Amino acid sequence: MTFNTPLIISKKRDGYTLDKEEITEIINGYTAGTIPDYQMSALLMAVFFNGLNEEELNIWTDAMLHSGNIMTHNNVEGIKVDKHSTGGVGDKISVCLAPAVAACGVPVPMISGRGLGHTGGTLDKLESIPGFNVNLSSKKASQMLKDFGLFLIGQTDDLAPADKKLYALRDVTGTVESIPLISSSIMSKKLAEGIDALVLDVKFGKGAFMKSFKQAKELALTLSRIGEGAGKKVHALLTDMNTPIGMTVGNALETAEAIDVLSGKGPKDTIELTKELGAHMLLLGGKCSNTDDGKKMIAEVLNNGKALDLFAQVIEAQGGNSKVCGDTAILPKATGKIEIKAPFDGFITDIDPVKTAFAALKVQAGRIKKEDNIDPSTGIQFTVSKGDKVDKGQPVALIHHNKKGEKEAESIMKTAIQLSPDPISIENSRIKERIISNSVQHE
Ligand code: URA
Repeated sequence: MTFNTPLIISKKRDGYTLDKEEITEIINGYTAGTIPDYQMSALLMAVFFNGLNEEELNIWTDAMLHSGNIMTHNNVEGIKVDKHSTGGVGDKISVCLAPAVAACGVPVPMISGRGLGHTGGTLDKLESIPGFNVNLSSKKASQMLKDFGLFLIGQTDDLAPADKKLYALRDVTGTVESIPLISSSIMSKKLAEGIDALVLDVKFGKGAFMKSFKQAKELALTLSRIGEGAGKKVHALLTDMNTPIGMTVGNALETAEAIDVLSGKGPKDTIELTKELGAHMLLLGGKCSNTDDGKKMIAEVLNNGKALDLFAQVIEAQGGNSKVCGDTAILPKATGKIEIKAPFDGFITDIDPVKTAFAALKVQAGRIKKEDNIDPSTGIQFTVSKGDKVDKGQPVALIHHNKKGEKEAESIMKTAIQLSPDPISIENSRIKERIISNSVQHE
């Protein structure tokens, strides 16, 4: 059969199902450069409107996965489990979670991304540690997994190269917000890590990719189905991203907070997410028989120093200064600080994550375009949480800056934190639902 790209585009445009050969040829052809951007853009838009059925989506993801190398860690014993978050504000959980889970004996091959727009990225947080190298070869990463049960690296060029090209094209063709395209993009990269199982933190709310709970749940179910279609066990948590996670937004600030959690301290919500996601990873990794036991195991390694000790070893092995684990003052520090004060006596009713992220962007803590440089030392630090009572004039947040964008950040932060004279009831947990092998457990 001659391969006919315009025919495939019109087939999807008219709502028909593409077969394995058609999808594979399209993904391979686009990755190799024989299918031009204009044809792929048209097909992506057709997928955006007409979707992909379960079989098409599994084939599409598999073709993206096989567009590059797939890591194997045959020399490492144990069930390899990773976590993926769909992205949020103040989400430093991977930095404390990965060493905690590895310290409990489950190997964690973790490949993370960089921050873009209002969402932060684990690689930027790790790189705030002096010397930390996230660019390891697949061979060196696999050796780290054997030696420490953990590597913390960025995506290499040879892993799912189809995604690199497709994501860049989607970014400029209005085709990012499509559940099948997001799901195939995420899962092709995760499956390329050589994992046996995966825990997903799918966020919903103002600071999330998916604003509504319904959309986030559809994404979580789709991601889980792809994982299971590829023979992997997947657990997904649906978690609230309507306020920033923890007390900090900004790379070194968040790394210091993650080290606090690894030292048995840290904010309640950050500890909750670490324990809960960690418990699911331990369950999938065969180290416990229920999540209550898993949470106890994670709490133990956070409190007895084992998780922090392992993190120090991994930092050292990846070229970083492990002294940071005992003294977070060695992280880069901004020279300027501006206090945001409560305008009247009252209660904190809201902390807007997107406004907070934009304020952080103004002081260069994040990037708007992929090529932008970031300042690891800047960001926003909260001194109160939602629901807290505050007095007029009391500091509620601190802007860490290096004399760039601080005035704009200040005016944004003045509107990001809302007060009311009356107290409000607050949710005790960020976790709203758990999806375990496509069965749903309500909180
Ligand atoms: N994150 C990804 O990796 N891919 C998408 O398409 C969206 C978010």
